[in-house]
Amino acid sequence: MCHAFLQDPDFFLFLLRIDEEFAAEARDAGCRCGGVLHSARYPRKPRGCPAQVREDYSWRFSFCCARCDERATPASVRFLGRRVYLAVVLTLVSPPGGVAARQLCDLLAIPVRTLNRWRAWWSRDFLRTPFWQSVRSRFMAPVATVRLPQSLLERFDIGTTAQRLVQLLRFLAPLSTRAMSR
Ligand SMILES: [Zn+2]
Repeated sequence: MCHAFLQDPDFFLFLLRIDEEFAAEARDAGCRCGGVLHSARYPRKPRGCPAQVREDYSWRFSFCCARCDERATPASVRFLGRRVYLAVVLTLVSPPGGVAARQLCDLLAIPVRTLNRWRAWWSRDFLRTPFWQSVRSRFMAPVATVRLPQSLLERFDIGTTAQRLVQLLRFLAPLSTRAMSR
C-alpha cells in the first residue's frame, strides 16, 4: 500500500471540505431545543498531518446553542474523538503487524505504547460502541474483528487507496461524536 497521499496537503484539505459539509448540516439543523447554533470551535493539536495544513487542522468544528447553551459537535473525518493523532493515522496503523503500519509508525514516531492502546481499542472497545452495534449488520459477510480496521478498509474496494480511505473515514465519521463512541 502506498502512503504518498499522507504527505499531500490536498488530501488533507479534501477531508477538511467533508468536515465543512458535516458542520454546515449540523448548523442548519439547529439545536434540539429549536435555538440557533453559534460557532464554538475546539482547539486541537493535531499529529500526523503535513505542516502546510496544520493551521487548518488546529481546531475542530463545534457549535453552541444561543438559547440553552448545549454543545453540538458534528461528525468528523479528520478527528476520531479527542485523540491527538488524526483519524487517518488511527485507521492505517492498526493492526500494527503489517509493513505499511510499521513504515507509518516510523515516519510519525508513534510510541509502541500508544499503538498498543489503539490496537486494544479497535479489537475490544470499538466493538462495543453504539456505532459498531448499529452498522455491523450491514455487512453481508462478518468483518474480521482481529484485523480491524484494515478488515473494514478492505470492504471499500473501489478506487485508489486514498479514495478507499476517504470512504472508510466517512463511514467511521459518526464515531467521532460522543453519542456513537460510548
Ligand atoms: Zn438549545
